[in-house]
Amino acid sequence: MPNQQYPGWARIDLSALSHNAKRLHDAAPNAEHMGIIKAAAYGHGATEIARTLVDAGYQWLGIAQVEEALTIRRALDRSGYSSERVGIFSWILPPGNTDVIREAIEAGIELSVSSVADVLTIAALALPARIHLKVDTGMSRAGARPEDFPALVAAALQAQGRGIETVGIWSHLARADEPGEESIAATHRQIEIFETACALAYERGLTGVKRHLAATSGQLWYPQTHFDLVRDGIGLYGLSPNPERATTRELDLRPVMTLAAHLTMVKHLPAGTPVSYGGTWTAPNDTWVGLVPLGYGDGIPRHASNAAPVTVYTSTGQLTATIVGRVCMDQFVINLGAHPHAPARAGDTAVLFGNPDRVDTRDCPSADDWADACGTINYEIVTRIGARVPRLYEG
Ligand SMILES: *Cc1c(COP(=O)(O)O)cnc(C)c1O
Repeated sequence: MPNQQYPGWARIDLSALSHNAKRLHDAAPNAEHMGIIKAAAYGHGATEIARTLVDAGYQWLGIAQVEEALTIRRALDRSGYSSERVGIFSWILPPGNTDVIREAIEAGIELSVSSVADVLTIAALALPARIHLKVDTGMSRAGARPEDFPALVAAALQAQGRGIETVGIWSHLARADEPGEESIAATHRQIEIFETACALAYERGLTGVKRHLAATSGQLWYPQTHFDLVRDGIGLYGLSPNPERATTRELDLRPVMTLAAHLTMVKHLPAGTPVSYGGTWTAPNDTWVGLVPLGYGDGIPRHASNAAPVTVYTSTGQLTATIVGRVCMDQFVINLGAHPHAPARAGDTAVLFGNPDRVDTRDCPSADDWADACGTINYEIVTRIGARVPRLYEG
């Protein structure tokens, strides 16, 4: 299928991305949307994803690390997607590295501030800058605690005279994806703290700022969190923020990434043969196994050992297998089952996870199946797929 040297690849379905963007716009029709492309767009490749989102009408992109935001800003500028067309917001400032902060401000990137010290660092650069004040409403990650927020507002007002424009007030929800009364109550508390902080900033004179609180889960499940702007993350990539609350299918989202490889070998093992390092799996009967040329060096979790499913597409049909033995750095083994003849051949395509509703990957495992098998979340499964795996863009 793919035309390249590496035996594994991640297909990135850009038409699925556009479909998901539309779904999120339907869920939050009255807010502006920011496409979140942190960590190489959750492993999908930031530049391609950024261009597709801008083409689909996104005027905002969000990236956690300032360094990455600068790289994307430059890539977008080079391909004609100017700052006027798409703004970039970034929220992790490297402490003490004023060079990168200066470069970001010069490039027009809007930055988050969590403390008076952050405001002073930016003001000391004596450049016109746009900032978003972050209030910690209950995540206890970044942001000023509610009791410290009035001081942050005061610092922002003072900095206005030095060309620092406050354009946003924002926060992040910790439990908006979870079912259950306790999570709902916690989310309502966060919303209330956010509203109080916004009202205070407004009273003190910060009017005309964009308020933003919701990521995908807030958009889908808490309409009162939409405010002026929403931040579209995992939903864009076609995955549910929490499949226990609603599955990808129920949300009408389409997985964007399909991770696949060509089998490098198929062979027969007699009953009792151990497989891979430590012999943690032994063939219980005569069986066929296949060798998949991707490993933890590609971001395949070692926790997938003896657990995760893989679908193999052969010349005559398809079969679902399970990883047996430990995942190695560059490869792993799958159990193809007992058959009188080899059920697959070297060169056949093995799909680790993808979109089970697409014709060419019908009934393949999903990133959620992998997350369950590995004791993690779909976000981590796609995001960790390493840079050496080629991304093949389609659609
Ligand atoms: C990652 C992230 C998002 C997007 O979250 P999803 O759950 O993927 O939609 C939004 N805002 C911030 C601050 C984030 O770090």
